[in-house]
Amino acid sequence: MAISKVKLKGRQEIALGTMAFHFEKPARFTYKSGQFCDLTLVDPPETDAEGNTRGFTLASAPNEGDLMVATRMRDTAFKRVLKTMDLGSELTLDAPYGSFTLHSDASIPAAFLAGGVGVTPVRSIVLEATRDKLPHKIVLFDSNRTPEDSAFLDEFTQAQAENPNFTFVGTMTDLERSSSDWNGETGFITSAMIAKSVADLNLPIFYISGPRAMVAAMRTTLEESGVKDDKIRTEEFSGY
Ligand SMILES: Cc1cc2nc3c(=O)[nH]c(=O)nc-3n(C[C@H](O)[C@H](O)[C@H](O)COP(=O)(O)OP(=O)(O)OC[C@H]3O[C@@H](n4cnc5c(N)ncnc54)[C@H](O)[C@@H]3O)c2cc1C
Repeated sequence: MAISKVKLKGRQEIALGTMAFHFEKPARFTYKSGQFCDLTLVDPPETDAEGNTRGFTLASAPNEGDLMVATRMRDTAFKRVLKTMDLGSELTLDAPYGSFTLHSDASIPAAFLAGGVGVTPVRSIVLEATRDKLPHKIVLFDSNRTPEDSAFLDEFTQAQAENPNFTFVGTMTDLERSSSDWNGETGFITSAMIAKSVADLNLPIFYISGPRAMVAAMRTTLEESGVKDDKIRTEEFSGY
């Protein structure tokens, strides 16, 4: 674990109410795809009861030039400051943390169940697996309200085109609110939906990431389908 200062290089909206923030990668800083960092504002103009630090997944793949995090832009002091601070401003990075990383045994498939912004670690893992041509079979079930709300849709579609071992299953839970064409799945991730892409539920390691309630619901779904507890790994995004 290392503490460094990082400069904000850029930010852009990547989905409805969701922004990506790019930071200069400190020299010799390394991490594994799926890990997270703590970012702390330095002398912010405002603060609140939650303080000046938040944990964010490093959504960038380790080989990418910048560090990138992505977040839902709620109206909290931390996020107001992050959204308006001058480019070039410094934050404190404390990283890397976490073990929500791809298992090493490529003979075991990986199935990711992501809710909303919980897809950030999967972006890092899938982009790295695609670039490095990893032999792991990977399927991602990515649940969002609408396509407009969905971060990284284009990148997952592109990764699926490039990587014969990667299957992307997007599902929309509130498509009535959307004006875009969507030909994929709709509704919450269910065991029936999973079974369409995972022939044997006993084979994969399942990775669940997202808000606490989503992680709990998905764990129950898997356990009711007979998946053993030691085949389930989770990352809870506390604070949602
Ligand atoms: C390992 C890990 C990885 C994470 N990765 C990410 C990531 O990649 N991207 C990401 O966005 N977050 C991630 N999080 C969550 C992140 O740390 C923050 O908790 C989250 O972004 C909320 O921060 P906030 O400033 O919006 O709200 P906070 O100020 O932290 O909110 C505190 C509480 O206030 C309530 N609250 C505040 N604003 C609202 C609102 N507008 N509507 C409803 N309730 C509200 C919530 O109930 C929340 O529990 C991660 C957390 C962990 C532990």
